[in-house]
Amino acid sequence: MNGLMMHRPLLVSSLLTHAARHHGRQEIVSRRAEGDLHRYTFGDLAVRSRKLAQALESLGVQPGTRVATLAWNGYRHLELYYAVSGSGAVLHTLNPRLHPDQLEWIVADAEDTALFFDLTFLPVIEELAPRLTGVRHFVLMSDRDHLPVGSGALLAYEDLLEAQNGNYEWPELDENTASSLCYTSGTTGNPKGVLYSHRSTVLHSFAVALPDSIGLSARDSVLPIVPMFHVNAWGLPYAACMVGAKVVFPGPDLDGGALYRLQETEQVTVSASVPTVWQGQLEYAERQQLRFTTLQRAVIGGAACPPAMLRDLQETHGVTVVHGWGMTETSPFGTASVLKSTHLQARPEERYAVQGKQGRCVFGMDLKIIDDSGRELPWDGVSAGHVMAQGLWVMSQYFGRTDQDPLVDGWFPTGDIATIDADGFMQITDRSKDVIKSGGEWISSIDIENIAIGHPDIVTAACIGVRHPKWDERPLLVAVRKSGAAISAEELLTHFTDKVAKWWIPDGVVFADSIPTGATGKILKSPLREQFQDYLIEPGR
Ligand code: ADP
Repeated sequence: MNGLMMHRPLLVSSLLTHAARHHGRQEIVSRRAEGDLHRYTFGDLAVRSRKLAQALESLGVQPGTRVATLAWNGYRHLELYYAVSGSGAVLHTLNPRLHPDQLEWIVADAEDTALFFDLTFLPVIEELAPRLTGVRHFVLMSDRDHLPVGSGALLAYEDLLEAQNGNYEWPELDENTASSLCYTSGTTGNPKGVLYSHRSTVLHSFAVALPDSIGLSARDSVLPIVPMFHVNAWGLPYAACMVGAKVVFPGPDLDGGALYRLQETEQVTVSASVPTVWQGQLEYAERQQLRFTTLQRAVIGGAACPPAMLRDLQETHGVTVVHGWGMTETSPFGTASVLKSTHLQARPEERYAVQGKQGRCVFGMDLKIIDDSGRELPWDGVSAGHVMAQGLWVMSQYFGRTDQDPLVDGWFPTGDIATIDADGFMQITDRSKDVIKSGGEWISSIDIENIAIGHPDIVTAACIGVRHPKWDERPLLVAVRKSGAAISAEELLTHFTDKVAKWWIPDGVVFADSIPTGATGKILKSPLREQFQDYLIEPGR
């Protein structure tokens, strides 16, 4: 017997319709690529998104057509999120930090037919356009006044909207229709496309908003610093509409001071970004002797949150850290380190240790850890194994590669190594490709890096496994000193005593001016491994 309830498909457009009807006066504030601050409401967003959907139709965009964006976080990008997916086409967010050759490859792989871009990227587009043979329309996300002289077929976004009346009804799509496409950062091999559906996107938004994840509500002012081109800004552009939270978009200026000021003036309560961007804000606040006065929760993910950062945010600024883990293939939200009632009475040190883990699953997401032979490992907080994920917003196959099955017994192998404790808190010890195998035993490069960064003279560090004649691989620490600091390798290594087992202590330290990062701002270890693989076996060492 079936239940007798309405069947309403889970659609991206329904998030917008809800926001406009129930939170129509809520604000969206954007720092624009043009340089100024723009303000409007969810009501305005809905009207302009409908006009944009009409404009897409007039450009010949059909259901399933891929529409690419090369843009910062801002209201026009948000309109594209809703208009493209809402009308049944597929939004493909491009990462502007990729090399032009990679962009060319991805646009061809996705078969993008239209490309919308911010003013900042005009030079990139001018260079790339002749190579993007499948793209029929290039649209500058600005007004006519910003079009370069003699720009030929280039269209102005505002012109497209002006030509429409907004009398548009969102189609009632099947909820399994594709809504957006995002490529993995491709640190190994060519990037792979992950194709989200309307259903997975809406379910993911519920998950992001839950109190045991980001805990988003209509009382929040949310600043997604994490780019809208990086796994849909962790789902915040959707979740904000779902709950009616004020949205603040930072545009292109991700400088620590600019972000700090924006958070203060717009009374931001929740802000989300990768550790390196948080670092910039915390350094600015420290230099200027400032505190975050409205911020309540700092969402940190994409890479491990260093314990020193967690402590600084909690103790100096009184901001609760929500440490999250996920990946493109998991939409991306996988886990968040929100405490359980059992932790509330714990001493601060113990609480920080729990919050410093990558966290636990909410309903809709499941994890297990397995050993090399596929056996499931216990949740004892000690046994480390390969993390396998399963859930309502986890990918089943890669875009354009449906002849391949990436799952193992229905679970997605994440490529991460972690422990899980009895309360279900997962702690990443490494990427499987980064784990250091010393004499067959595993050393966590993340643990070593966290200890190094905890030293007051060190800004950032990367630990890599390098060749060793006896142990196959031993850890080498590449570290960047704070300006003016003169700490020696010996002094830094002494800092490890009593913090880890003796055999985990790196065999050497190399000081560098900087550490390479990839297109998503994460540390790139492969060039370091290439450069230093023979460091310990070079003659004379
Ligand atoms: P890529 O895998 O190509 O780098 P993603 O942006 O999808 O691109 O990154 C996902 C990976 O980032 C995860 O598999 C994990 O290794 C790492 N990651 C994400 N969040 C965290 C975190 N909080 N702590 C440690 N690693 C993290």
